[in-house]
Amino acid sequence: MTATLIDGTAIAAKVKLQVAADAKTFIEKTGQKPGLATVMVGENPASQAYVKSKRKACAELGMESFGHELPKTATQAEVEGLVAQLNADPNVHGILVQLPLPDHLNEERVLNAVGIEKDVDGFHPVNIGRLSMKGRKPLFVPCTPAGCIVLLEEAGAQFKGANAVVLGRSNIVGLPAAMLLLHRDCTLTICHSRSKDLPAICREADILIAAVGRAQMVKKDWVKPGAYVIDVGINRVEDATKKSGYRLVGDVDFDDVKEVAGALTPVPGGVGPMTIAMLMKNTLRAAQAAHGLI
Ligand code: NDP
Repeated sequence: MTATLIDGTAIAAKVKLQVAADAKTFIEKTGQKPGLATVMVGENPASQAYVKSKRKACAELGMESFGHELPKTATQAEVEGLVAQLNADPNVHGILVQLPLPDHLNEERVLNAVGIEKDVDGFHPVNIGRLSMKGRKPLFVPCTPAGCIVLLEEAGAQFKGANAVVLGRSNIVGLPAAMLLLHRDCTLTICHSRSKDLPAICREADILIAAVGRAQMVKKDWVKPGAYVIDVGINRVEDATKKSGYRLVGDVDFDDVKEVAGALTPVPGGVGPMTIAMLMKNTLRAAQAAHGLI
């Protein structure tokens, strides 16, 4: 059996097309562009690349972006001061604080400072709290997990009663992804670094989301035939044939697992593009909500 490829680039393009059309309508109604502020502290090259691609997406979709860069020596008060300023700015509808922050900063306090109506990353504890409770709705759902769900929906996965396994329990991917699956009535198992016999647990999964940051950890014999497999991982592995000296691989051994999975995302070109598309969607929603349009 060869898995169907879940094409994140194509699905993200579809989401972005809709966002661009809705952004145009928003601008016609309000005379204002939806605006995303990005906050970056320090010069982490990966963070710089992520912020650049988020700002590029804003420009492509007719949205505004405001880039803020603070030196790696910025104090807690300076970062929180900037966030407070952005909370008060009517041209800013969404605020994205690029993680990770330098070690001397208290990430929790910075994320708490983002106004929940501008929390387009969905990391504010109130939004995560609502996501984790039955019958409550967060204002915003974290972008990567939300993207995973769209990919599964587009691939035709059935959620109700399905066995879902999430590898990883981080605040930004594993945990919110798990909550989204639970809301869709999956029977859920969350695994982490202390879990025992991962292959056996994963083999029970109709839906498997891998978000551990371990290159090609998930092998063919971990996967139930026909399962939907979403690979969130982005890992660099040495590759002398590349100019850069490395290539990107996921947490799933793609070539191995494609022989048994029913549907599978590639890396790159799977979850990555969806994360940005969902951020654009959240930013537009924040702008619409600020104007009482939704
Ligand atoms: P974290 O490092 O924050 O979390 C990793 C999780 O995996 C933890 O819960 C950890 O367990 C668990 N874990 C680590 N090693 C193992 C193991 N050997 N067996 C079982 N569980 C393990 O990572 P993130 O959640 O931030 O990111 C995960 C991956 O997704 C990374 O590769 C990252 O680059 C990628 N990513 C991709 C995005 C995209 O847009 N495509 C966006 C965000 C992340 P424990 O809690 O016990 O430590």
